[in-house]
Amino acid sequence: HLEQHIPARSSDELGQLAAAFNEMSGRLAEADLLRRRFLADASHELKSPLSSVKALAQSLLETNEQDIGVYREYLADINSEMNRLARIVDHMLQLTRLEEEGPLVKENTAVAGLVEHVLLLLRPRACEGGVALQTDIDPALSWPVHPDLFTGILFNLVDNAIRHTPGGTVTVEAQVKKKDLIVQVADTGEGIPAEDLPHVFDRFYRVDKARSRVTGGTGLGLAVVRQAVHRHGGSIKVTSRPGEGTVFTLVLPGMDYVHTVSCI
Ligand code: ADP
Repeated sequence: HLEQHIPARSSDELGQLAAAFNEMSGRLAEADLLRRRFLADASHELKSPLSSVKALAQSLLETNEQDIGVYREYLADINSEMNRLARIVDHMLQLTRLEEEGPLVKENTAVAGLVEHVLLLLRPRACEGGVALQTDIDPALSWPVHPDLFTGILFNLVDNAIRHTPGGTVTVEAQVKKKDLIVQVADTGEGIPAEDLPHVFDRFYRVDKARSRVTGGTGLGLAVVRQAVHRHGGSIKVTSRPGEGTVFTLVLPGMDYVHTVSCI
């Protein structure tokens, strides 16, 4: 058990040491609890596609069906469950990698070009859902980001926006305010109920569990986004009006300047 407590009554050095120890052991206990919860949630999430695949394979083995079309249907279902499993594992790996400490190598990146690239990748999905994609970004704007992580952040946010905005519009804007880059991904979609808003970045949290599973969601996309934004030293927030739409706002700091003091 990690939680140990040393009674610290005095304020002398020993007392301060005991207090520091108590705070540290409290933090360790909290981290341990989070890890255990993640493991429990992850096992639960992985179990669901595994059970479906097992049941589908078992029915295939037991059936006397002659029609090859029926076999194809079952195999298509198995395939899509396996794809879901692969996406969950992929998101879990991304989260774990992002949590490893270490400096992030940032490159000065043309923001408009990168956003265009993401929109190009998602255009087929947008067309399928009748979603219009718009951008408003100065072509000359460049910013220090990790190109792959930044691409992943935008891909996840725009992909989510498209999935929740059938027949509507998704807009990506970016501009520099003070010393930060502000990026907004806004949609005119179904929105997120107020009671769910504080939780959407939590691991495995979904507003509509059943539907998220059907559409191939893992419940980890926004957790990955938040972690990638934090690795950039930035922050992310969301505002939403049910029935009107949702806006995700990223704030990414510029390069850290090292101040040197010269001695004469
Ligand atoms: P999922 O894989 O289920 O999409 P995410 O972590 O990406 O998981 O998102 C968590 C939940 O937040 C989603 O299940 C969805 O209900 C909600 N959500 C995310 N983006 C939007 C959006 N643009 N509009 C409405 N709901 C959204």
